[in-house]
Amino acid sequence: MCTSGHGSADGASVAAPAVDRGAPGPAADAALIADLVIANRILFREGVVDAFGHVSVRHDKRPDRFLMARNMAPALVTEQDIVEFGDDGEPVNAAGRPVYLERFIHSEIFRARPDVMAVVHSHSMAVLPFGLVRSVPFRAVTHMGSFIGTCAPVFEIRDVVGDDNDLLITNRKLGRALAECLGQGTVCLMRGHGSTAVGNSVKQAVFRAVYTEQNARVLSEASRLGPVEGLSEAETRTATRVIDGQVNRAWDMWRMRAEGKV
Ligand code: MN
Repeated sequence: MCTSGHGSADGASVAAPAVDRGAPGPAADAALIADLVIANRILFREGVVDAFGHVSVRHDKRPDRFLMARNMAPALVTEQDIVEFGDDGEPVNAAGRPVYLERFIHSEIFRARPDVMAVVHSHSMAVLPFGLVRSVPFRAVTHMGSFIGTCAPVFEIRDVVGDDNDLLITNRKLGRALAECLGQGTVCLMRGHGSTAVGNSVKQAVFRAVYTEQNARVLSEASRLGPVEGLSEAETRTATRVIDGQVNRAWDMWRMRAEGKV
């Protein structure tokens, strides 16, 4: 029999308003900011984020910093909403505007992975079950999802802070643990919460977030039919090399769709 209980949140996620630290660096490339804005719109339009979730990009002139929207629904982000963050996850120029509680996902992955230029965090629905069922690994089953590899890691927040947690990545310690779980991978699942995908550009991170969700749908459907034949390790490597060259084709269409032009 199940017993019900009420969480005794310790207030860890009810963060005080973030205070700006440091001084803004040189202005980021306008095209980079424009891509970040459209990435927000695309992720909403393609069903990866809803009112929640976020995307960031490493600053092109200050690699120890990154850019991300203030705390708001991704679909509504404009260039005026983009905030610069330091490598401690704290804003540089938020000027009192609320910022995302889970900004430490981004700061700690950027610190741990110099090759990562963009990060997408979402709660996209089809991926969630694979963070819950430990006996079923999340793996690439389509060539478009080949970057996922043969077994994506699943982050278990209890291993870091125990059972009395709110499942959110609200500080540097949790961000570091998540980055460790991701390792050198491309996508990391988070039990009962969502997933995080990384890329070498905003476009690649968005591409991976969209196809992580699509791969999850296919894997779930296939699992209803019988044992699933996923991609082999060699197939994931080879297909990833080919598909990486196709990112712009998807981006250009998603962008037009997000702008209501197709
Ligand atoms: Mn989240």
